[in-house]
Amino acid sequence: MERPCAWKSYNDTELAQLEELCGNYRTFISENKTERECVRTSVAMAREAGYISLDEAAALGRALTAGDKIYAVSHNKTLMLVNLGTKPLEEGVNILGAHIDSPRLDLKQNPLYEAGDMAYLDTHYYGGVKAYHWVATPLAIHGVVCKKDGTTVDVCVGENADDPVFCVSDLLIHLASDQMKKPAGEAVDHENLDVIVGGRPVVIDEAKDGESKEPVKQLLLDILSEKYDIAEEDFLSAEIEIVPAGAAREMGFDRSMILGYGQDDRVCAYTSLAAQLAVAHVERTSVTLLVDKEEIGSVGASGMTSRFFENTMAEVLELAGEGGGLALRRCLASSRMLSSDVSAGFDQLYADRFEKKNAAFMGHGLCFNKYTGARGKSGSNDADAEYMALVRDIMDEAGVAFQTCELGRIGAGGGGTIAYILAEYGMDVIDAGVAVLSMHSLWEVSNKADVYEAYKGYKAFIERA
Ligand code: MN
Ligand code: MN
Repeated sequence: MERPCAWKSYNDTELAQLEELCGNYRTFISENKTERECVRTSVAMAREAGYISLDEAAALGRALTAGDKIYAVSHNKTLMLVNLGTKPLEEGVNILGAHIDSPRLDLKQNPLYEAGDMAYLDTHYYGGVKAYHWVATPLAIHGVVCKKDGTTVDVCVGENADDPVFCVSDLLIHLASDQMKKPAGEAVDHENLDVIVGGRPVVIDEAKDGESKEPVKQLLLDILSEKYDIAEEDFLSAEIEIVPAGAAREMGFDRSMILGYGQDDRVCAYTSLAAQLAVAHVERTSVTLLVDKEEIGSVGASGMTSRFFENTMAEVLELAGEGGGLALRRCLASSRMLSSDVSAGFDQLYADRFEKKNAAFMGHGLCFNKYTGARGKSGSNDADAEYMALVRDIMDEAGVAFQTCELGRIGAGGGGTIAYILAEYGMDVIDAGVAVLSMHSLWEVSNKADVYEAYKGYKAFIERA
């Protein structure tokens, strides 16, 4: 039952393909650290591959047919790609799904203050965050500021070599005797994750203009006004995310791994996207969903629980001449999905948190989780054995290295994905994905072989499921 390490099977051609894919993936996660950035870049890649927007498709003035490629975007944060196949949509579609939001610090709506001659931006953390990870490390600021005049200002500071970066201060060890006695979850207060953004006062002519009460904050506001044409009030309508600064890197002397921010779940999102774009002609229509808000429960208009997917499928069926409520219901119920999210890679340093026979090993290929959940599989989508048999056969036929796993040993914790949401339509869904180390840390680790096998597996799935 042991699954072999994928690296042992590669020839030179495959190694070259693996390196090319992983190089492109590294660029993608280095340049796209928010859901909005991921959507924007993915749309550009899709258009390059011949995809047109749903609006453009509606304007064609003809029924959609096999080979037509459509995308739809919701709230600039969620993306759906559809490549029409030769079979009727009513017979079901093959779906790849992954999420493009990652744990981070969001700016509060009223974030800016000055204290101790420094300017700070106050944050509210997003997703499962160990607060102590975020102190004393270089941070970048990404996001949008939407102004009352309807314009949007894009912000991205801290990624270029000559950009400034930002940080949250840490308490010096010399004064930390009380802090060091606390449990790790309490050592750093989430409310104290305030980012230092300025340390120099504006200099004004006090005789003429009087004394500035908050001169450091004032200098910062002057810079924001000059550089971005935004005022403090504009923070009220902004979505600014604080993320680790810097590019993803190759890791290990053998360069076999990738160290990067946001691999949960952009490693599955990127490989799903690449597979969707690589397969031009299919029998069953292929769909890729890149969704937001998974880390906080898939809620909201851009999360998987919104009606965006269902509505867009209805639009596509209508444009393909298969409109009507019943055809949509049949399509959804007859569909098959790989719901992809990262798995917990076996970690020797925390070996007692895993059950080795059913753990994911780094470099051993695409992971399938028949079920996730916590305690007695609570909250899990438990995929049918019949469906798992089909998936095994597809992977074996295409020569994809895969492994089956659970998220750690029973009782160690647990987690959920978007799988159960799509399963509500009655379709076949199984959790799949790439194993990572240090999930939800600032810098997560993936193995290049797993990235490559995920891409191969997704491609095989949309070609044959
Ligand atoms: Mn995830
Ligand atoms: Mn996660």
